Amino acid sequence: MITVLRIGHRPDRDKRITTHVCLVARAFGADRILVDTADRELEATFNGVNERFGEGVILETGAKWRKVLREWDGMIAHLTMYGMELDEAIGRIGEQESKDLLLIIGAEKVPGEVYKAADFNVSIGNQPHSEVAALAIFLDRYHKGKPMREFDGKMTIIPSNEGKVVRERE
Ligand code: SAM
Repeated sequence: MITVLRIGHRPDRDKRITTHVCLVARAFGADRILVDTADRELEATFNGVNERFGEGVILETGAKWRKVLREWDGMIAHLTMYGMELDEAIGRIGEQESKDLLLIIGAEKVPGEVYKAADFNVSIGNQPHSEVAALAIFLDRYHKGKPMREFDGKMTIIPSNEGKVVRERE
């Protein structure tokens, strides 16, 4: 089971990017998302997507991240441009696949205690980019590029080269 923990969310500034973090986590195979600042609007947006496209991934906002770290029983990986190389980390994390994984991403500067608490500080290349990109690439590599999670929602998009094909259930 994979839980994504988003640290440093500022509802006034990060609404859009944290929404993208949540949607990427949902689509690319995380099971649960924790956001450290309470944000009812973010929850409503995310739950709206679940309602239309399928349930199965849980979002909680207002999570106390220090408590989450303290009580976590499993592996902790923190995505940061300063971390170890992705392929090596994925190999080592994969050796302990039976353990639950807490995957941490930041917003601005991440406190030093997160680096210390992490079993793996993992970089997706050593250039600064985005938590959305880092999360997507990590999850894709972790799941070995397998097809994305399937959802059983009211709306299912049928892949098509000719416009939008959507199956809607009553
Ligand atoms: N100085 C930050 C760092 O340590 O990666 C960059 C801040 S960036 C705006 C916000 C988040 O994106 C970071 O906390 C990290 O989770 C993620 N991120 C950005 N670049 C990354 C990279 N090259 N590898 C892994 N994660 C990255």
